[in-house]
Amino acid sequence: MKKIEHIGIAVSDIKKSNELFSKLLGIDAYKSEAVESEGVNTLFFKTGESKIELLEATNPESPIAKFISKKGEGIHHIAFEVDDILAEMKRLQAEGFILLNEEPKRGADNKLVCFLHPKSSNGVLVELCQEII
Ligand code: ZN
Repeated sequence: MKKIEHIGIAVSDIKKSNELFSKLLGIDAYKSEAVESEGVNTLFFKTGESKIELLEATNPESPIAKFISKKGEGIHHIAFEVDDILAEMKRLQAEGFILLNEEPKRGADNKLVCFLHPKSSNGVLVELCQEII
């Protein structure tokens, strides 16, 4: 794994959180993107080498809606950048980690992504992401 690519934060009102995080980080978001398949609106801030991704549910079935109803707003996942997502998925599966998707899927910000089940990683939802070139 190369670096922490971004930290995903679940929010209930992305407009309000946009203001809040702009103030907090002292910069404006550089990108907003809806990921229809995941039922989320996202907003990205650059913080040096890494990013902050705000996630808002677009429907009650969205994983973000479920997360917020269970745990409230807050850190949702940590994403690590990898060079070869298939190789990392294979390696981690062999190490006993549970993959939430068997095939890499298309995530926000031009990435192929795969999530690891938090129960296999100390309660942390881990995202692997590889830039699509
Ligand atoms: Zn993410």
